[in-house]
Amino acid sequence: MSQVTGMGQVYPWQQAVWQQLQQPRLPHAIMLASPAHSGVEELAGALAGRLICTEIQSDTGLACGQCRNCKLLAAGSHPDVFSLSPAADSKVIKVDQVRDFVRQMTLTPGIARNKVAIIWPAEKMNLAAANALLKTLEEPAGDAYIILASCEPASLLATIRSRCQKYTLAVAEAQIVDTWLEAQDYPAEQRQSAILAARGLPLSALEYLQQELLPVRRSVGVALLKSARGQLGANQVATEWVKLGTELGRPLVWLWLSQWLQDIIRSRVSKQAGSDPIATAVSDTRPEYSLDKVIHLQKLAVAGYRSQDTALRQDLLFQQWLLQWVQE
Ligand SMILES: [Zn+2]
Repeated sequence: MSQVTGMGQVYPWQQAVWQQLQQPRLPHAIMLASPAHSGVEELAGALAGRLICTEIQSDTGLACGQCRNCKLLAAGSHPDVFSLSPAADSKVIKVDQVRDFVRQMTLTPGIARNKVAIIWPAEKMNLAAANALLKTLEEPAGDAYIILASCEPASLLATIRSRCQKYTLAVAEAQIVDTWLEAQDYPAEQRQSAILAARGLPLSALEYLQQELLPVRRSVGVALLKSARGQLGANQVATEWVKLGTELGRPLVWLWLSQWLQDIIRSRVSKQAGSDPIATAVSDTRPEYSLDKVIHLQKLAVAGYRSQDTALRQDLLFQQWLLQWVQE
């Protein structure tokens, strides 16, 4: 368990749900269900700020940032706001974390009018942790609010879900994301490519721009085309992609391969041109491939994506995939 740092924020695509959260009597167990890479943890932070601030801004509904509670929250040292996330050495939220927090919740009154816990990502609670939370969700102390933020709400126990009031955030509209990126001075062409690469998920699109990932993604597409034309050998490409995977620290090459193939499958099934120019170029180099073959390659790419943290050798996996890709 740790204190929450920062004040959170409300992104433009979260405004509709933020308005719903302005109601005078909020439920004590709140689930924020959101698409990935859309800043739901920031929204949870903003709500926590609202629940403890003494001078809420009347126009935005946001915490003031100036009162004693806000200053403590911003410094990460507010005693009444808790955050439950997987510890650095763990992939799950454990039962001890939940028990610690329940104990804190029921201890002496705090300094703010409410106590708030943010559980993020809520689906990372293991079974014991979820069960330990159930009773608190049933009978929360009068001034306690529990905010469960999740991008995979269906993975939560049904008994947990049924005890929360659910607020569902929709996928951000492309136009809203584009305007948001424009306000950060990114040119139109880059914005469009980033939104496309990020499949519309706003914080992922921003990451493509900030980390300059678009040219890297394009270079992977070019290598794929050249290997299809016999201009690059599988070994050479595989070596390059392994190096890239290490540099990126994430299996993005596999992600891109699976996304392009997904696009090809979609456009073949719907008989409509895809929107991603790289996927279209890739598809054009292998028009004779059956849908089954493309689906098979896509599944292999997904398996490759999941193999990143395993002992499997990435160079061999890429080679195997490329050999199947170039094999006519
Ligand atoms: Zn304040």
